[in-house]
Amino acid sequence: MNTNYKIMTPGPTEIDPSVLAAMAVNGTNPDLDSEFFEIYKATVDQYNRLIGSSSQSYILCGEGILGLEAACASVIEEGDKILCISNGIFGAGFKGFIEMYGGEATLYEGDYRKGLDPEALRAFLKENSDFKAATLVHCETPSGITNDIEKLCAILNDYGILSIVDSVSAIGGEPVDFDHWHIDFLLGGSQKCLSAPAGLTMVTISPKGKASMQNRKTPIRGFYANLLIWEGWYEKQWFPYTQPLQSILGFKKAVENCLASDFVGTHASFGNKVRLAFEKAGFELYPQDHYSNTVTTVLLPEGVDFKVLFNHLKEDSNVLIGGGFGHLDNKIFRIGHMGSNNKEENMLLTMKALDQAFDKLNVQLNMSLLDAYNG
Ligand SMILES: *Cc1c(COP(=O)(O)O)cnc(C)c1O
Repeated sequence: MNTNYKIMTPGPTEIDPSVLAAMAVNGTNPDLDSEFFEIYKATVDQYNRLIGSSSQSYILCGEGILGLEAACASVIEEGDKILCISNGIFGAGFKGFIEMYGGEATLYEGDYRKGLDPEALRAFLKENSDFKAATLVHCETPSGITNDIEKLCAILNDYGILSIVDSVSAIGGEPVDFDHWHIDFLLGGSQKCLSAPAGLTMVTISPKGKASMQNRKTPIRGFYANLLIWEGWYEKQWFPYTQPLQSILGFKKAVENCLASDFVGTHASFGNKVRLAFEKAGFELYPQDHYSNTVTTVLLPEGVDFKVLFNHLKEDSNVLIGGGFGHLDNKIFRIGHMGSNNKEENMLLTMKALDQAFDKLNVQLNMSLLDAYNG
């Protein structure tokens, strides 16, 4: 396997050597060593700083999807009415989890090429607000759209509706202020903007979110996805299962790297530059507003097959880019400007590689992407 690709995909992203080095230890037995509990707690505290949280965060062993499923499993009871807010593939995907845990899902959809309109949501809730919780997505990674979570969650809170927010591809790249944004369950993943290896999901729970789990009439179905089992882990010096020590150490270093930089500013500036380059070269972006700081989604030029483009980039330039799935299959391509991907040299290499590939495919650009990127 070639392990030297430039992984310019919207996750997993390039892992910094400092993160890899932090993981390269034999370590201790995390269930038995009180020092590990301190390290885990310090990691949680640093992560909370990153998202402006003074609430409880847990780092679960499992990819981002586990966080989404665990929040649904822990909140939803048979017959609960849940609002599934969607303007993209991940937003709509929550419906499956809601129903799997017995909830009655009501799908509320916005325009898939635009950010969700908070005032439209408010108007909808004025007519119908009998929901225990709502699921929504911060950054719709497949389309490159960042929703205004601050406003949306404030509106849900006005109507007494708990918010379950998938921020897997936003945390570390978009502003998040957990304590002030009325988010009840904030879900993150290790392999996107934080640029740690895949395999961890972060779950942050507000006091209201915790009360909703404690006040259930029926027990939470399942064990691995039961967020209440984590209660008091530090005081009891007890984990529900063996913690992946090396992954936690890598994640800790990745969060430290983030905190040591202007992480949102860097993402915003790379996002702007990449977007502008595609527009100047004559491409059409998929989103029509609310452009993501962390991923850019571009319509494939007429007649270009994604697999062919992908293979040219991979074979000629060692660069990997993302494609589309669902309704965007073979319609778009995506560049992940997330975490450690955000280096000038990576962007220059990617633009140059795309220029070469489009040249091979006889696609005429207004100007080369490299020139467009360089301004
Ligand atoms: C990456 C991501 C996840 C995790 O999903 P995988 O496809 O398994 O990586 C969840 N939500 C969003 C918005 C994501 O970008």
